Amino acid sequence: MDLDSLYQDVILDHYKNPHHKGEPSGEFKVHHVNPSCGDEITLSVTLTAGQVSDVTWNGVGCSISQASASIMSDLVVGRTSQDAFAILDEFTSLMQSKGTLVGNEEVLEDAIALSGVSKFPARVKCALLGWMAFKDAAIQNGAKA
Ligand code: ZN
Repeated sequence: MDLDSLYQDVILDHYKNPHHKGEPSGEFKVHHVNPSCGDEITLSVTLTAGQVSDVTWNGVGCSISQASASIMSDLVVGRTSQDAFAILDEFTSLMQSKGTLVGNEEVLEDAIALSGVSKFPARVKCALLGWMAFKDAAIQNGAKA
């Protein structure tokens, strides 16, 4: 199996069986849309003593946007908001690299599967949608960026 098809499997698994998906119930709820593709996400973050104790999201859209939100939720829950933002920065750099970066797998884990998206500028917003929603909700919740 080559790497591309392996990555496809990771994305499809998250798309078909998304993690942390449900009715967002936290106090700080955001709604983000990606008009160029039609992706939408509603997301809430719960911070407890500076730690991301919960992320819940609901959304519709392409497999990239939905899988990316699932992967992001897995990565940030249980981390301090500073650590979560560091992962977010790493992922944002990878997405904006136009295929020139490979990404740090130790930091990004399953999100590495999305690295190929950076070669397709039209899809980068799909991949970043959930991450930007998380950042927005966390900052509204008092996290320092
Ligand atoms: Zn999309």
